[in-house]
Amino acid sequence: MKEEPLTRSFDALRKRMVEEQLGRRDISDARVLEAMGTIPRELFVPPGQQSEAYTDGPLSIGYEQTISQPYIVASMTQALKIGPASRVLEIGTGSGYQTAVLCHICAHVYSVEIVPELHKQATTLLKKLGLGNVTARLGDGSAGWPEEAPFDGILVAAATPKVPPALLEQLGLAGRLIIPICRSGDHQELKLFQRLPHGIETRTLYDVRFVPLRGDAESANP
Ligand code: SAH
Repeated sequence: MKEEPLTRSFDALRKRMVEEQLGRRDISDARVLEAMGTIPRELFVPPGQQSEAYTDGPLSIGYEQTISQPYIVASMTQALKIGPASRVLEIGTGSGYQTAVLCHICAHVYSVEIVPELHKQATTLLKKLGLGNVTARLGDGSAGWPEEAPFDGILVAAATPKVPPALLEQLGLAGRLIIPICRSGDHQELKLFQRLPHGIETRTLYDVRFVPLRGDAESANP
């Protein structure tokens, strides 16, 4: 079949994104590089912004939400140290791009989104791409997904002052949770929690900027 010129140029942009934004930084996990070199990120951004799909930053996806910067998607996924047997919980489906990356690597992905339109768009697109190993749900992800716990990895794509306790509880042994935590003002830190036999180990990775995790705390302080 004849290939569309536009598809070919997106392929080239994707390859360059993987080399320059990921490989030349600290992304070395072959599964992450392969996933991000395969998934058509241009389909996860609003139609008018496809030409910017491979730029080195986040993009607006409407409803005051963003699709994360490619490097952040790669770095958070790499930090989870997941593989083909892993079951992963994602809070904040958003565009579904991070979900698609996780689907490419893991056995099954459970993803929760609070904005109905984003949930619908993302699930339609993931289905169209033939990614069958995802179950997506509309709701407040702060409660996690107790029916499917424990998880090998939990990835939260929205910032909160405090880790929702349910998420730590749903982390399996050796499982990792990655989440942006709000500090003073606009300052946020990406934190990694790992459940070990003797308790939870915590590491601070680097400063980030995510949209806020919405939910009860927010509606209590309008
Ligand atoms: N990884 C996504 C990031 C989306 S931004 C992407 O690259 O597209 C974060 C998402 O979290 C938004 O879609 C937002 O609506 C969602 N969100 C915010 N609070 C939430 C909550 N309590 N439960 C589930 N999703 C939430």
